[in-house]
Amino acid sequence: MGEVFLTRRIEFAASHRYDNLKFSAEENRRIFGKCNNPHGHGHNYTLEVTVAGEPDPLTGMVLDLKELKEILEREVMQRMDHRHLNYEVPELSGKIPTCENVALVIWALLEPKISKGKLHRVRLYESPDLFADCYRNAAAGPDAVKGQERRR
Ligand SMILES: [Zn+2]
Repeated sequence: MGEVFLTRRIEFAASHRYDNLKFSAEENRRIFGKCNNPHGHGHNYTLEVTVAGEPDPLTGMVLDLKELKEILEREVMQRMDHRHLNYEVPELSGKIPTCENVALVIWALLEPKISKGKLHRVRLYESPDLFADCYRNAAAGPDAVKGQERRR
């Protein structure tokens, strides 16, 4: 038997604002540009979750898809869909809710919940041309790698 990478994709909508209290108002505007606008703005996020494993000989499945769907519903949708990421997601408190940081938080939420197969990759699209990846890295935990960036 061989290893297979199985990916499930979900979408959610959320708003955010980039603002670091350690910076002055002017620095925040300079560093974050429009993303610093006081009232925030929204994105339609697409999340791809990839689990690696060998198909079970009896079911042909790497993991129970219904269970994965429930995990994504509970850990991601209920926490983040139609939320303001700065104020409503405790896991992000004190962090700038960039695509990179949101992907890392999602990894940390999902990783312990995947009991069959192993979480291999979390890819979060903030827009069709910007995404962040977290991959399993045995020594150092997941790394956030920024995808192509044109526009936030
Ligand atoms: Zn944004």
